[in-house]
Amino acid sequence: MSRNTVARVDLQALQHNLGVVKGLARGSAVVCVIKADGYGHGIRRVASALDKADQFAVATPGEARAVRDAGWTGPLLLLEGFSDGDDFDVARQLDLDLVVHHQGQVEALRSRGVTPRQRLWLKLDTGMHRLGFPARDAEAVLEALHPVAGRDMPVLMSHFACADEPSNPMTSQQLSLFDQVTQGHPNPQSLANSAAILNFPDSCRDFVRPGILLYGISPLPGQTAAAHGLKPAMTLACEIVAVNQCRAGDRVGYGAAFTCPSDMLVGVAAIGYGDGYPRHLRDGAPVLVNGRTATLAGRVSMDLITLDLHGQQGVSAGDQVTLWGEGLPVEQVAEWAGSIPYELICGVTGRVDRLET
Ligand SMILES: *Cc1c(COP(=O)(O)O)cnc(C)c1O
Repeated sequence: MSRNTVARVDLQALQHNLGVVKGLARGSAVVCVIKADGYGHGIRRVASALDKADQFAVATPGEARAVRDAGWTGPLLLLEGFSDGDDFDVARQLDLDLVVHHQGQVEALRSRGVTPRQRLWLKLDTGMHRLGFPARDAEAVLEALHPVAGRDMPVLMSHFACADEPSNPMTSQQLSLFDQVTQGHPNPQSLANSAAILNFPDSCRDFVRPGILLYGISPLPGQTAAAHGLKPAMTLACEIVAVNQCRAGDRVGYGAAFTCPSDMLVGVAAIGYGDGYPRHLRDGAPVLVNGRTATLAGRVSMDLITLDLHGQQGVSAGDQVTLWGEGLPVEQVAEWAGSIPYELICGVTGRVDRLET
C-alpha cells in the first residue's frame, strides 16, 4: 500500500492568484517569481499553469532551464545573474535576462556582449546590503553598460528589506534613495516583492516581482492571504496509520516528551521531518483530521507524527489529515514552527508526491 503522503497543487488557485496580483499591481507588468522549485510546488508545473505571466524570474541557471523545458519562450529573468563563464553561456543559449549586481559581471558583459533577445536588470543596493551596486553608482554603471546592447534598455531595480512592516521607515528611505539616484533616467523600474505590493503600492512602478502571493500565502505577519482574496495553492496531506487508546500519564513519542493529561486517543499520521514537516513544531500545533482541528502531541519524527485526538469520535486508519493548505493556512502553522510560510512550502521534500488538482 502506498503511503498517501501528498502535496496537492491547485493549478486554478495559482491562476486565480495571478489575477488577484494583477489587480493589486494596477497595470505594472507582473514578473512571477518561481525560484526554489516554484516555492516547492514544482517549477515546470507552475510555469505551465501561469501562462498569463508577463515574465518569470528564477534564481539559478538550472531553474531557468526547467522553465524553458516547460515550454516558456517569453522573458525569463535570472535574479542572481551569472557567476562564471558556463552560466554565461547557458544564459545566452536560453535567452535569459540577467540581473547585474557586481563589477565582474559588468566587465564580462562588456567583453562578451549579450544576444538581441536578452535584457539587463541593473540592481542597486538602497540599504539592504545584500546584492547590488551602491545606489550612488547608478549613473556610472549605466554608463559602463551602455555599449552592451541587448533587447532593450536596462531595467533599474532594487529590493526591500522590511516591506512586510508597514510602519517601518526603512522602505520609504530605500524608495527615496532609489528615486534620487534614478531621477532623469527613462529606464523602466522594478522594486516591489509581494509584501511591497500589499503595503507600498507606490513602489509598484513598471515591473512587480511577486512570489509568495502567487501561492496564496500572505507575507505579512499575523495575516492570512484569504484577507486579500487569495487561495492556497498547496495542501499538504497524509493519512492516519494507527490510533492508540492511551491512559492518563502515558508518554508519547521520542524523548517521551508528551504526557497524556487524561485517558485519550492518540492518532499516528504518516508524515515527518523526512517529508519537510518541521521538527520544531510544538505540542498544540494545529492539524486537521477529517476536517476537524486536532493538535500535535509529542515530537515530530522522521516519518510519523502523533496527535491528540481529544473530542474526535471514530477516527481510524486511512482517515485524512491536512497539515496545511485548504482549511488550515500555512501562515498559522509557520508561527507554531517559529518560522515563516516560505520555509515550510520550500521545505517539502522529494519523497512527497505532488498531485495536480
Ligand atoms: C524571491 C524574490 C522576490 C519574491 O519575493 P516574495 O516575498 O516571495 O514576493 C522578489 N524579488 C527578488 C529579488 C527575490 O529574490
